[in-house]
This record gives sequence, C-alpha cells and structure tokens, in this order.
Amino acid sequence: MTIPAPWQRAARGAGLLSPDGGVAASIFAQMSALAVRTGSINLGQGFPDEDGPAPVLEAARQAISDGVNQYPPGRGDPVLLAAIARHQSRFYGLTVDPSSEILVTAGATEALAATLLALVSPGDEVVTFEPFYDAYGGLIGLADGVHRTVLLHAPDFQPRPEDLRAAITDRTRLILVNNPHNPTGSVFNDATLALIVELATRHDALIVTDEVYEHLIFSGATHTPIAGLPGARERTITISSAGKTFNTTGWKIGWLTAPAELVTAIITVKQFLSYVNGAPFQPAIARGLDLPDEFYQDLATDLQAKRDLLAAGLTAAGFGVTLPQGSYFIVADVAPLGYADGVAFCQALPELAGVVAVPLSAFTSPANRHHFSSLVRFAYCKRSAVLEQAVAQLAGIRRL
Ligand code: PMP
Ligand code: GLN
Repeated sequence: MTIPAPWQRAARGAGLLSPDGGVAASIFAQMSALAVRTGSINLGQGFPDEDGPAPVLEAARQAISDGVNQYPPGRGDPVLLAAIARHQSRFYGLTVDPSSEILVTAGATEALAATLLALVSPGDEVVTFEPFYDAYGGLIGLADGVHRTVLLHAPDFQPRPEDLRAAITDRTRLILVNNPHNPTGSVFNDATLALIVELATRHDALIVTDEVYEHLIFSGATHTPIAGLPGARERTITISSAGKTFNTTGWKIGWLTAPAELVTAIITVKQFLSYVNGAPFQPAIARGLDLPDEFYQDLATDLQAKRDLLAAGLTAAGFGVTLPQGSYFIVADVAPLGYADGVAFCQALPELAGVVAVPLSAFTSPANRHHFSSLVRFAYCKRSAVLEQAVAQLAGIRRL
C-alpha cells in the first residue's frame, strides 16, 4: 500500500478525496461556483455582501497612502498587537502581553494551520466536535494526527458530557473547540466549557478555541472565552478573525492569543507559511477593534434581525429550523419537505428556488454522516433585501 502524501491526507481529512484518487474543490468553492453558474442567491459560502465600518476601510486606504506597504514585524504590527490586547481586556477582562502572547496571522485559517502543524505529532489525537469546519479535518490530516469527534445533537447542537468524557483521554494532544459554532450556530453553555477545561487539565491536553464568531452572538446568549475560565489560560490558544467582525473576509487578518511559550512554538511554523501578511490592513483592523461598544451591539442586533428574517421564511416554507444563538449560519432540516438527502436537495435548490445552500454532510466524517443527512446550512450574513428575495423564492418549494 502506498503511503498517502500530505496533500492526500489533507484532502481525505476534509472529505474531499474520492476513491479513485481525485480531489474535489471545497464545498464552499463548489457551492459559490454553482450560485454563479445558475444565477442563484448565494446563501452557501459565509461571507457578507456589504462593506463593514467606513473608518476601518478609510484607515486601510490611509495606511497605503502613508506607505505602510512593506513587511510588518513577524508577530504583527505593534499598533494591532496593542489593539488586540485592549480588546481582550475590554470585552473579557483578560490581560495579554502584546509583545509575547499575541500572533497576527493570515486569517484564522493560518492561525489554525500553524497551531496544528506546530503542536500535533503523527498519531496524536485531536478531538473536535462534529459537524466540524472543513479546515479542521484537512489540517489534522496534514499534521498526520488522529481525528476523534464528539457529536453535537439536534435540535440545539450541544455535546453530551458522557461523549466528551469518552473522547478525551491521555492520548488527546489537543481539543479543538469552535464557539460560536460553524455550521450549526450553537453556543456552548458554561457547563460544557467548564467540562472541556476539566478534561483537558486531567489529561494534560491543549485547548485550541476558534472564536471567530465571538461578536456575532444573539440575545439570550453570551460569549465566554475559554481562556478566561479557571485553570484554562495556561493551556489555551484562542483564535479570532477580523473578517467576521468587520466584514473584511478578503483581507485575511486573524490572530491568536496564548501563553508566550506556545506563541513561540506557533510562530516558528507560521514564519515559514506566510511569514507575515496584510501590512496596511493591520492598522485598519486596530482602528476597528477600538470602535465604541455601540458598533459591536449594532453588529449583533442587525445580524439577529437577519437571522430572524431567514428563520421565519424557512419555517414558513416548511423546513424544520433551530434558531442559532450566534454565527452567520442556520441549520434547516429538509425532511419535513419530503427530502431525505441534503446533498441532493442542495444540488436541486438552484432549480427549485434559485438559492444555494450547503449540505451539513460537508462538515462530517463518513462514519457519522447519517446523523446529519437531511440537514442543510444557510448563511444569513447578506443584505436584508437579498434575504427577503431568497425567502420569497424558497416559499415556492413544493413538498415532495
Ligand atoms: N474558523 C471558522 C469556524 C470559520 O467559519 C472560518 C471562516 N468562515 C474560519 C475559521 C476562517 O477564517 P479566516 O477567513 O479568517 O481565515
Ligand atoms: N468559513 C466560510 C464558511 O463557512 C467559508 C470560508 C471558505 O470558503 N474557506 O462558509
């Protein structure tokens, strides 16, 4: 048997390797292409369709004019490092040292990649929740780790404590949490977060927490960063992204915060991935992080109204819907419409309604796919007029 090459492990980990050795594009790329090809409304890939705050955009233009166009320092522009430290203190009461405990990365994706490649050795177990963001499977494969998952259960997509206890053992190198969660929009409760810390401590595992949707959280829920829980900080790497908070997904500015030794380990890898990125965007994101509380409140309130618009439309159209507590995404069940398979449904949806969505199976491993087969994900980070049009079109779907 030939040993799979690293790229094949990555493709297999993300569920993109077919039995004949071919490799598919990511579900997001496939579905965005389908939307363009069919002229459909793209509620598949999660990116906003309008610009974020004007001062942030202006700050980037200004930085380019001011000549901020060469390599920034390896850890990030000091202006951004300081703004990230202020943000952690202002929102979460966490003190981080800008000179040793923060690393700016090419989006959250590079933060995840550098972290897993720095800290996971071949055969180490990495625990994620399932469904999981596709990059997790791909990167665990690339690092040659062993991917263990803990299922999230509909309708509220929370894990069961006994499943967590069974999955996290002395073999676990790292627990990769995503809160708020893509694709389900669930927010883990405090008991779950505390159990993760307890188990990580007992088994001496690291916690990597992907909190890119930290500010996209709705009334009734709050964001609790794991790093702030008792005993968590020394073993936790927290990852975030400016793309989600400031509607700048194409700028690819992300960052992580962690104890200094872990940042040193991760930067050792990161310097050979991108080295650095986005010089003029870094001070612009610093400007964004310092925006007043009102900006952050309006961001969540506006997005919640969009969530409600799409949720009401999906419910009226006959989908089974769970209201997400955060993120860009809502999960809908197509079974009440008479469809059993979310993949087939998503392929038919452009014709049925001129809309594109993503099947949840794209976020699952083959062994567990059956738990999620009739579920699909819609993104509501779009203009209200676009969502209204999508809802009007979805209303025309006939039950099979
Ligand atoms: N983690 C999660 C859970 C995401 O949903 C995304 C992108 N939507 C990322 C990471 C990647 O973020 P970035 O675009 O900053 O690389
Ligand atoms: N994170 C985005 C989503 O879940 C997509 C990012 C990507 O295309 N890799 O839709």
